[in-house]
Amino acid sequence: MRDRDLYAKLLGIEAPWFVRDVEARLEAREVEVFISFDERVEATCPECGKACGRHDTRTRTWRHLDTMQYRTLLTADVPRVKCAEHGVKQVKVPWAEPGSRFTALFEAVVIDWLHEASTSAVARMLGMSWDEVDGVMSRAVARGMQRRKSQPLHSIGLDETSFQRRHEYVTVVYDTERARVVDVLDGRSQQAVETFFWDTPFEDLETIVSVSMDMWGPYIGAVREHIPDADDKIAFDRFHVAKHIGDGVNKVRVDEHTELRAQGIDTLKGTRYLWLQNPENMKPSNRSRFEELRDTELRVARAWAMKETARHLWSYKTRGWARRGWDQLIGWMTRSRLEPMVKVARTLREHLWGIINAIVLGVTNAHLEAVNAKIQKLKKRACGYRNRARFREAILFHCGGLDLYPQLATAHTKS
Ligand SMILES: [Zn+2]
Repeated sequence: MRDRDLYAKLLGIEAPWFVRDVEARLEAREVEVFISFDERVEATCPECGKACGRHDTRTRTWRHLDTMQYRTLLTADVPRVKCAEHGVKQVKVPWAEPGSRFTALFEAVVIDWLHEASTSAVARMLGMSWDEVDGVMSRAVARGMQRRKSQPLHSIGLDETSFQRRHEYVTVVYDTERARVVDVLDGRSQQAVETFFWDTPFEDLETIVSVSMDMWGPYIGAVREHIPDADDKIAFDRFHVAKHIGDGVNKVRVDEHTELRAQGIDTLKGTRYLWLQNPENMKPSNRSRFEELRDTELRVARAWAMKETARHLWSYKTRGWARRGWDQLIGWMTRSRLEPMVKVARTLREHLWGIINAIVLGVTNAHLEAVNAKIQKLKKRACGYRNRARFREAILFHCGGLDLYPQLATAHTKS
């Protein structure tokens, strides 16, 4: 029959496997291809590769890529061997990985689609269940993580992100140099980060020259425990430092606005973003209003000037000058009598060593922006992941730089 040859070719089926029959069920829009293993060829143990006696045969079915618009199934009689050393084992099939109900080519297509659409959209499109699509994704990530070679890290970043609307967090470990996610850890405790360090070969850690992060005690503690000379490598990155100062400015505005409103003055109404935005990014219509406010005696205007000064303290090249610049700002904040700014100043003074490290080491998270945007998109798309494991999987799938595909080459070679 010609169609048997055709399907053998299409599927890359080679001896000792052969296509025994092809059944087209037009009503059901299905094609089923039956495959057998040549009786005359000795089967080999999948563990040790030794030729062994045959034990029995199991019939198994895989979903393959559709042939035209027909759902295509492969059904094979798969021999089981009895190995003296490994016991009864099913021989390897060249078209699928062990344990999967889909052929390698089909899984590859699912993986491709998952890069473009959500799990539920892929399930709908390919006529699969949500769990089946999720299973392909899990296997892809597990495969990728297993294949990932030990890789000396140079610059890493630790950052928390919430994964539900509640206060549930994971810690994302970034390889800032390669702009990818190394791992996603449970929670944001010192222990969570230490677990990651324990699991990473020391050769990969000893090459680290910088660890960027927020001024967060548990992260600092974990890095100090595991990375030699941590106090020269911990860098409090610009983004997080700016966020603390911005929060201080906002607090000053809220307090002042409340006071003014009590006196019937509405000057600060609707100005929140004006004080947080960088002036360069301001719309011209907002700018004139902002400049008026900025030049007043308002307390928030003073706080804002401090924030603005901090923004320009990142371009120093030497430790000494950087320290002088920051000392001056921290002194100003401390004497300002603006309680929120005094508080931020205290935090900055305690962590100044790491801020100076960030400046001197030239730590920047600029090329992580794309990765972060992707994580935010994933979060939105899934509307809150039900558990951390799923969220971790999705992040690693999309941002881990992993080799996710099943080994397609085996579909064309004998195992
Ligand atoms: Zn064996």
